[in-house]
Amino acid sequence: MTLSSITITGFKSFAKKTTIDISRNVTGIVGPNGSGKSNVAEAIRFVLGEQSMKSIRSKSMGDLIFKGSSTLGSMSRASVSITIDNKNKSGSRGISEEIAPFLAYDEIVLSREVYIDGGSTYKINNTEVRLKDVQAVLALAGIGTSVHTIISQGEADRLLSASLKDRRTMVEDALGLNVYQYRLK
Ligand code: ATP
Repeated sequence: MTLSSITITGFKSFAKKTTIDISRNVTGIVGPNGSGKSNVAEAIRFVLGEQSMKSIRSKSMGDLIFKGSSTLGSMSRASVSITIDNKNKSGSRGISEEIAPFLAYDEIVLSREVYIDGGSTYKINNTEVRLKDVQAVLALAGIGTSVHTIISQGEADRLLSASLKDRRTMVEDALGLNVYQYRLK
């Protein structure tokens, strides 16, 4: 499983639909202060099902939606999609497709949309799903929002200052044990 693109629409500073192709290795995103670099990382956290508003620098779902500018009006919804290339099926790690049916697809598109009234929906390959279905796919892919895979600005010391419990979670995630916990459940 590899991340191949991210599409952001109406999320924070991304008013217009923006697709970032990361099918080839990307080392960094550069731009002036305040141009939206961290918003890209937060868009990824968001679509992965982040529940902590603090870690996406917001107080409410409304803060995530484009507020408007001198040239563009405000929007009433924000959506983010990530496309995962699953052609090699390496994420399945012995998990039956009956348990996680989306693993059968060569391409998995995870999407999350929020509305100005605070509602939120998740989709996998355009089918509305529950957060726990998204979490199942992510467990299989060894990706999580609270772990080592996403380290936000100023958080490089998080691993060192984490509690024993959090450190254990990070180590387990890094070892890819999530998928076995998912199987046990
Ligand atoms: P730095 O280099 O200073 O860390 P950055 O490139 O990472 O900056 P971000 O912090 O990602 O920039 O983006 C901040 C910008 O996003 C600000 O200009 C802010 O006004 C804008 N922004 C955040 N939320 C919204 C929103 N809901 N609607 C419109 N713009 C928003």
